[in-house]
Amino acid sequence: MRDLNPASLFVPEATSKPLIFSLKLCINMIGSGYDHQRVDRLKYIVVTGGVMSGLGKGITTASIGRILKNRRYRVTAVKIDPYLNIDAGTMNPAQHGEVFVLSDGSEVDLDLGNYERFLDINLTSLHNITTGKVYRNVIEKERRGDYLGSTVQIIPHVTDEIKASIKRAAMHRLNGEVPEICLVEVGGTVGDIESMPFLEAVRQLRGELPPEDLVLIHVTLVPMDTMGELKTKPTQHSVKALRELGLQPDIIVTRGVKPTDPATKRKISSFCDVPSSAVISAATVPDIYQVPLELEREGLADVLCEKLRLERRAPESSWYEIVMKEYTGQVKVGIVSKYGIEDVYISIKEALKHAGRSRSVQVEIKWLDAESLEEKELAEVDGILVPGGFGSRGVEGKLEAIRYARESGKPFLGLCFGFQLAVVEYARNMLGWKDAVSEEIGDGRKVIALLPEQHRVTAMGGTMRLGIQPVELKEGTLIRRLYGKAKVEERHRHRYEVNPEYIREIESAGLEFSATANGRMEACELPGHRFFLATQFHPEFTSRPASPSPPFVGFIVACMKCRGE
Ligand code: GLN
Repeated sequence: MRDLNPASLFVPEATSKPLIFSLKLCINMIGSGYDHQRVDRLKYIVVTGGVMSGLGKGITTASIGRILKNRRYRVTAVKIDPYLNIDAGTMNPAQHGEVFVLSDGSEVDLDLGNYERFLDINLTSLHNITTGKVYRNVIEKERRGDYLGSTVQIIPHVTDEIKASIKRAAMHRLNGEVPEICLVEVGGTVGDIESMPFLEAVRQLRGELPPEDLVLIHVTLVPMDTMGELKTKPTQHSVKALRELGLQPDIIVTRGVKPTDPATKRKISSFCDVPSSAVISAATVPDIYQVPLELEREGLADVLCEKLRLERRAPESSWYEIVMKEYTGQVKVGIVSKYGIEDVYISIKEALKHAGRSRSVQVEIKWLDAESLEEKELAEVDGILVPGGFGSRGVEGKLEAIRYARESGKPFLGLCFGFQLAVVEYARNMLGWKDAVSEEIGDGRKVIALLPEQHRVTAMGGTMRLGIQPVELKEGTLIRRLYGKAKVEERHRHRYEVNPEYIREIESAGLEFSATANGRMEACELPGHRFFLATQFHPEFTSRPASPSPPFVGFIVACMKCRGE
């Protein structure tokens, strides 16, 4: 399952101090002496992948964006997913990883989460191009008669639609400003049938633009043989496959557990016609947020600036200061889930990391299987998190974990389904409503019921309550203290809500609904408990390294206290 996670190859366990020290040196060395110049037209950086999936192409793309953003370029990013689904919303997270939710409510590939976290931007549905969306547009145009008289074909009609979609996304203003550089990550591996029209569109785009306006980066695997020697053959083959499609890479990023040495770089350079300075080693580092530092140290920024004729600017150091912060403590958080696959909860994992880092605390995550949960596993962790989810599998285990947290005083954070189950648990055990359920999981007293606007919904794709909604936080509550304001905007993805019929009785039994949106319950908490907070919204989607999500920070601080006792 590890190859599901594009980040997984970048993430072994511990933090390496010597690495951080040398990276600090490297940043200090680059940080001087260049002029600034405006970019007068949009530049494209296209990232393709070779050899196999799961190389960390998404993290590499996000990191390339980061090193340019550190130089004050306005960077945007587009992910191409060559599948026929319109979006990721209907896909099984156990196969494709988390469904990430954007502010505009689109359900997208998890790489967009990486772009948002690395680049600190808010993307839109335009920024995730899928074969499904492209074909839908082409077919709609055909039905309208836009191509009247023509035979509609992959070339030029589909490829034109792809190019138009890329440009539309690239030019979309972020924070009111037109981007200067657009990263375009082509999902899948070069050679896949699915990605062919997209690579053809890139080939055409390259021909249409001046050479300094588009750079092609190929991310490939450089494995090690049993003797510990690095092997270049897979790279040679994947570059050959790219060339057969009329695409010559300008830069090759080599992924592997070990850095690519100069001799191997020279070999790749001579076989693939890329200067050895443009063969960039991206070896596995302890933390994904250190990847930009690796690329920086390898001189990628210089190579890119030269190719794109961009002014070489000194990088800002704020990102590096955040990601190189040393840990002084540690907490262990148990995440109760039915999947046991980290990729399904990548935003939660990152949000915990952001919150921990802001308090110099390393967060160790213990994945607890909701279907075989034992109380002693819960006793071993410093805090319990019940994440979002769908369906009845594993529900009893999650309810047990919530009960344990409520009774033992261990910090608890519930998210979306975790919030709904916290209400069910309270109703069952504190109000004595043994038949309390969520309508989603069975029959009984429906304390969680279908949202009124969901009654007429039959189609599954894009029909939940989705995206950003203003949420009001009640005065004098934990959640209000954590956010430090009365109104926040958070992202949603659900069909069910707390049944208004039961709110009064549940509240009078002691569970406080501390946040609402248009009369809907958005958060609950238990006054008197050390930290018992659950939200209907998903705070994990808006957490960033430099601005961790307040509920996560509160949870981590409570875990630290719990551990210290
Ligand atoms: N299944 C629940 C609902 O649809 C919760 C969804 C979630 O956790 N994202 O309301």
